[in-house]
Amino acid sequence: MKPQLNPAALPGSAGLRVHNLCKSYHSGEQTISILNDLCLELQPGENAAIVGPSGCGKSTLLYLLGTLEQPDSGMIELAGQKPQELNAVAAAAFRNRSIGFVFQDHHLLPQLTVRENVLLPALAMRAVQSADEQRADALIQRVGLEHRSRQFPGKLSGGERQRVAVARALLLRPALILADEPTGSLDEANAEAVTNLMLEMQQEAGSMLLCVTHNPELAKRFQRTLTLHQGRFVSLAEPS
Ligand code: ADP
Ligand code: MG
Repeated sequence: MKPQLNPAALPGSAGLRVHNLCKSYHSGEQTISILNDLCLELQPGENAAIVGPSGCGKSTLLYLLGTLEQPDSGMIELAGQKPQELNAVAAAAFRNRSIGFVFQDHHLLPQLTVRENVLLPALAMRAVQSADEQRADALIQRVGLEHRSRQFPGKLSGGERQRVAVARALLLRPALILADEPTGSLDEANAEAVTNLMLEMQQEAGSMLLCVTHNPELAKRFQRTLTLHQGRFVSLAEPS
């Protein structure tokens, strides 16, 4: 009989594997440890909320996973790649292709229309192709903003801008979506709508989603809740 192989355990897995991630910051003579041997595994199609008190390192973790910062030590593997092993140019291309970001403050470019903002990840890679435009239009429709497509972000409400940011994050079908308090500046109804939309679209795309949130009700919508405590994820059942 053939042995059963766990695809997640194989090199080249499509998922996210994080092993013993460490990050500290230096302040004068002091070294402040932020992440301390953090481990995490996520499979395609999975989503999780990340919770923990302010300053515990949630954004730092997303920056590391998003290859925007380097860990002190530890391993990150995403879609079979170890981004730490790539040079700066290759890492930037990998980030653009494989990771979609949604920030608290949408980070849309005010001088571009909604449609142009959604097309930005493709533009950053190469000339925009008609398939990109079709996908952008489909995503804009999916987030309910087809009537706003030619408008500038300044004309939109906060909830609408975050819906554009979600569409943009999904344009290139990234393996991993990283959202850092994406609903932090929205009212309750809009926060729920944007969270639902993000989860639905992540499920449809079969991608992975990690979302930092301070809202316990929203955290419950995710398949898992990861609580960051003293630099690593703890199970709520575990004594801290
Ligand atoms: P959270 O997102 O959970 O609120 P952060 O990841 O933003 O927390 O920050 C974790 C800690 O690391 C905080 O104490 C913060 O002040 C510190 N920190 C974050 N970035 C830097 C940096 N570039 N230099 C020094 N300290 C930093
Ligand atoms: Mg933060």
